[in-house]
Amino acid sequence: MAERFDVVVIGSGPGGYAAAIRCAQRGASVAVIEKELVGGTCLNCGCIPSKTLLASAHTLLLIKHAALMGVDVASASPNWPKIQARKEAVVTGFRKGLTGLIQSHKVKIIEGRGVVVAPNRIKVESQAGATEIEAGSIILATGSQPVQIPAFPFDGQTVISSKETLSLQEIPRSMVIVGGGVIGCEMACVYAAMGAKVTIVEALNRLIPMEDEWVGRLMEREFKKLGIDSLTSQKVTSVDKTGGAAKVVLESGQTIEAQKVLVSVGRRPVVDAETASALNLQMKGPAIAVNNKLQTNVPGVYAIGDAVGTTYLAHGAFAEADVAAVNATGGDETMGGYSLIPRAVYTFPEIASVGKNEQTCNAEGLDVSVGRAFFKANGRSTAHNETIGEIRAVRAVSTNRIIGVTMVGASVTELAGAARTLIGTTEKITELSFPHPSVSEVLKEAAEDAFGLSLHNPPR
Ligand code: FAD
Repeated sequence: MAERFDVVVIGSGPGGYAAAIRCAQRGASVAVIEKELVGGTCLNCGCIPSKTLLASAHTLLLIKHAALMGVDVASASPNWPKIQARKEAVVTGFRKGLTGLIQSHKVKIIEGRGVVVAPNRIKVESQAGATEIEAGSIILATGSQPVQIPAFPFDGQTVISSKETLSLQEIPRSMVIVGGGVIGCEMACVYAAMGAKVTIVEALNRLIPMEDEWVGRLMEREFKKLGIDSLTSQKVTSVDKTGGAAKVVLESGQTIEAQKVLVSVGRRPVVDAETASALNLQMKGPAIAVNNKLQTNVPGVYAIGDAVGTTYLAHGAFAEADVAAVNATGGDETMGGYSLIPRAVYTFPEIASVGKNEQTCNAEGLDVSVGRAFFKANGRSTAHNETIGEIRAVRAVSTNRIIGVTMVGASVTELAGAARTLIGTTEKITELSFPHPSVSEVLKEAAEDAFGLSLHNPPR
């Protein structure tokens, strides 16, 4: 007889493992099926390895700028095999820890490809063969994969995705990055800091185009200082791999030689074709269509994370996992406030935002007042020689409340949670105490400025 679980989760990334643990915490018997590595994209070839490499790159830059802090250092250079080994150790350590954590919640981890054959039956295909299990409810958390460009598809060697870029054997002399979004810009920082000649080609008119225009312009300026060339409003039309290095051809006719070409033009949900067809799953473009309870069109089948194409963020997947887990175990929860899920880019300098930015407000015709505060005016930031960037807080005139915060500067991703708590704040922000001197004061100052109450900005 087929083994039966109250809930079966397919995929063990942030969405899948979080949903599995939440269901178990609510008393359900749970299995999670994983066809590759526990932890999914985020842990194995996404958030964690990229941030680990960025940390090495940041260390290198700090040492290179040590003289500015009055510290003489003879020299600093990357030891790439050690950097890669450290990254592997971080990822492996977390994977081991996560596997143990999942099991400690009595969630069964089943290795193999999960295919839903009926709303409560799942076939698991593994090297050992195929078995079937039964489920009261099913949560699809199958993640996403990088989008290819048909004119120059991934070859795993020269034209590569973020996955290969995170594990290169050596630092390339040169790299062209097609796409100036989050992943492209983070990888640009890693390899530029390591000494590669990096060129970003972005089809839109600025880097990080989902954020306000000023953010992209500021990043372009800062990237120049790192030696990164940003070619915006430009498209790559072909990649000629006949010689030693690839010749990247732009629409303008310009060519750039590069040892590696990273294509980072977005990600696309992974939806198992057999599952979709067996369930007659309703789709929304390439993603699984869900309502605000994360229910698909099939009763008892939920979908979350990158597979539903909402945020393409690990913490977005966590939030959806919470909602789906409650609903899959007899509760009634609704997903709300997508705009309150913070966005973070771990570049040099970092970018973080939450709520509505200026361009969204303009598009919606909202009457807003924008407060600004600068890191160069902050004591702690200046002490750390981290004076680049600013924070902007957006106040809706109609409600007189903060509705969005956008930040560019050192470690602003760590301020994103605090910025989230400012959403909905009134001018009472002036009464809140922030430690002095601290970088977080810039956040308070920007919010105060949105009410015309900045202490350290001259009167407007
Ligand atoms: P995934 O993490 O992709 O997990 C899906 C899992 O499902 C995979 O393990 C896959 O093998 C498995 N699977 C798929 N189909 C089946 C099947 N049929 N049977 C069994 N198993 C299956 N997000 C952030 O919030 N912060 C970051 O800093 C960040 N950095 C990133 C850096 C990079 C380079 C990349 C590529 C992504 C980054 N992301 C980041 C995005 C983040 O990784 C994803 O949003 C997150 O992993 C989505 O979680 P998920 O659970 O939906 O899917």
